[in-house]
Amino acid sequence: MKVLVINSGSSSIKYQLLDPETADVCAHGIVQRIGEAVEPDAVTVEHTAGEKTLEYQGSIVDHAQGLHVVFDLFIASGQDLAHADLAAVGHRVVHGGGVFYRPTLITDEVLRAIVDLSSLAPLHNPPNVIGIESARALLPDVPQVAVFDTAFFHNLPAAAKTYAIDPEIAAAHGVRKYGFHGTSHDYVSGQAAAFLGRDRADLNQIVLHLGNGASASAIRAGQAVDTSMGLTPLEGLVMGTRSGDLDPGIIFHLIRTAGMDVDDVDVLLNRNSGIKGISGVNDFRELGRLIETGHPTAKLAFDVYIHRLRRYVGAYMIELGTVDVVTFTAGVGENDAKVRAEALAGLERYGIRIDADRNNAKDRTARRISTDDSEVSVLVVPTNEELAIARAAADLVG
Ligand code: AMP
Repeated sequence: MKVLVINSGSSSIKYQLLDPETADVCAHGIVQRIGEAVEPDAVTVEHTAGEKTLEYQGSIVDHAQGLHVVFDLFIASGQDLAHADLAAVGHRVVHGGGVFYRPTLITDEVLRAIVDLSSLAPLHNPPNVIGIESARALLPDVPQVAVFDTAFFHNLPAAAKTYAIDPEIAAAHGVRKYGFHGTSHDYVSGQAAAFLGRDRADLNQIVLHLGNGASASAIRAGQAVDTSMGLTPLEGLVMGTRSGDLDPGIIFHLIRTAGMDVDDVDVLLNRNSGIKGISGVNDFRELGRLIETGHPTAKLAFDVYIHRLRRYVGAYMIELGTVDVVTFTAGVGENDAKVRAEALAGLERYGIRIDADRNNAKDRTARRISTDDSEVSVLVVPTNEELAIARAAADLVG
């Protein structure tokens, strides 16, 4: 059985063709710089099938063309998707609002509802919709399934998901905490339980999804009880380019005094803040190099990032009462030993002891980085949103 998973972003499409049962990846690739005029020899699509990587050079005007090129590269590598007997196409959809909270077969009506949710996720849902429309046109006979980033957080307790504003205004405009990266938090917390040989129902977990976007969640018995992202993915932890939490008064202050309009502040906080805003770079590998050269603000960016992360860990430890496992995942969480060490340093009295050798070991598989006598297990678990989406889509279509 095979499922094609599509993650369509504002200027990129990531995809994988995989077997949801075995997790074998038959092909994967990325379309980049969609909508940008590029040099004729610029590589915009990379498609890998087995040992072979095929490339496409030149501008990709829109998502529809991007997917066409991908389908042609599948054919060129000997896999015609139209005749691949696909069980489903699984689409990552960022915002399901209060409407969608489980994997959903995409009909015209569902697609219209996802379009309507664009006001809640103007940067994310529109490209997701274009990806769905393009895939439906190319594979009209294959069931298309939407898997929502918000779904795992659908049942957050009222106290955690309610913002302290007029409930009528909140209800009229869909203002509540939705949370994002849910597919990853769900998958990783399941993998963490499996690694420990425990039932998820018996565990209190904190998951730290630290990628370019970053979020934390508190999970009791497999149910999310809090998460750091909110109405939008801007709230919470400091991220690659997003500020995370800040005083909302800053927004009014900038509009009133800095000559910025709403869109300027949106761009500032979503694209030019976080690690990049403070240091100029958003990638932690570059940040590490800048810190070594004595760059004036790189160390500050790192410290601000860690300070916020520790604040959330502390908050979720209290919310959960007892914590059995803390798990790091995503690009930074899986690879950056210094971030992991500093995030949980000095917490021995709370039952958290990191083993430096385990933490520094280069290993790509799920592993324990706490000492054997640490009351709280600290793990690194690679996330795999594509596999989780493929499994959800395959389960839905039976
Ligand atoms: P993601 O959004 O999960 O793909 O994570 C991407 C981010 O992970 C990059 O922007 C880097 O900051 C970070 N990253 C990836 N590889 C490494 C590494 N080897 N060491 C430190 N950070 C890394």
